[in-house]
Amino acid sequence: MECVGERSVHAGQTPPMTGKYQQMPISVNTNTTSRLRDIPDRKCFAPMNRDQSANSAGTTADVFRQHSRLFEDNRFVYPVVSRRSQGVSVGVNLNPDKVCNFDCIYCQVDRRSESETQFVEMDQLLAELTQVLQLVSSGELFNHPKFASTPQHLRRLNDIAFSGDGEPTTFRNFDEIIEQAARGRSLHAAAEVRMVLITNASMFHRPHVQRGLSILDSNNGQIWAKLDAGTEDYYKLIERTKIPFRQILDNIRDAAKLRPIVIQSLFMNVNDVPPDDHEIAEFAKRLGEVVAAGGKIELVQIYTVARQPAESFVTALTENQLQNIAMQVNSTTGLQTAVYP
Ligand code: SF4
Repeated sequence: MECVGERSVHAGQTPPMTGKYQQMPISVNTNTTSRLRDIPDRKCFAPMNRDQSANSAGTTADVFRQHSRLFEDNRFVYPVVSRRSQGVSVGVNLNPDKVCNFDCIYCQVDRRSESETQFVEMDQLLAELTQVLQLVSSGELFNHPKFASTPQHLRRLNDIAFSGDGEPTTFRNFDEIIEQAARGRSLHAAAEVRMVLITNASMFHRPHVQRGLSILDSNNGQIWAKLDAGTEDYYKLIERTKIPFRQILDNIRDAAKLRPIVIQSLFMNVNDVPPDDHEIAEFAKRLGEVVAAGGKIELVQIYTVARQPAESFVTALTENQLQNIAMQVNSTTGLQTAVYP
């Protein structure tokens, strides 16, 4: 996930390691498997081209490996076939400069090369969004070699996702872009297509971001807010930001009081050490505090690193470890959890 306020460039610093995290780095495990989430809505299926299977340039697995934010000559908008959403997610990158106000040790944005695009050009972005929405809804997208092997049941538009190579809510005209994209969605996508904001919640207190969130609310929007820690120390170790943990927690609580939100949590080994029971218990407590304050959390997504992270001392947890975290969260808070190994 890619997401955040006072911007800091991901310079690949080493985290302030103390105690149990102070061990020698180990190699990265990039194994990925995925548990499918059932989203049965099939109203936006695109038509199947009869020759598609013959023309397929790759396998279904290849389609799922396409996480690139590059599509043709587009600079801001790209389609991805998502196993989790069981359809096509149209990504909108509001941070082409790859700058973020977090510097997560697990960040999967490739910052080894500088981006050619530094600024969001609204007109260009909206033109790309219209083009990609039309390609998906007409089915033409699946004639493209990258998408030709997409299984038929995934040939549906599921959502427009605002994320990118940094925190999308740091974009200065966040409310305006959400408003314009919502207009594009009404014109070129079915009503059930979601608008998803993938965010680190650091900027929710800003008035223009709140305006953008309320536009999302009116357009089948959903907020996926990241929370990877239960304690300030662990938060600082993982996210490497000056933004106080309290600000993130307050923003999540306040947003969840206005609409149900999804929490996205990534847990990992740091130098081969997983988060301990105390950290997970505190994490569950923070979620419980949101609920106790009147916030609604519809799902807690628990996942781990799936691609090359920013730091080589970060490695994936096992499915068993993720399931144990989910059980602990569920039994403490009663919240619904989903595990993505
Ligand atoms: S994972 Fe962290 S550092 Fe990377 S884009 Fe998201 S918030 Fe920023």
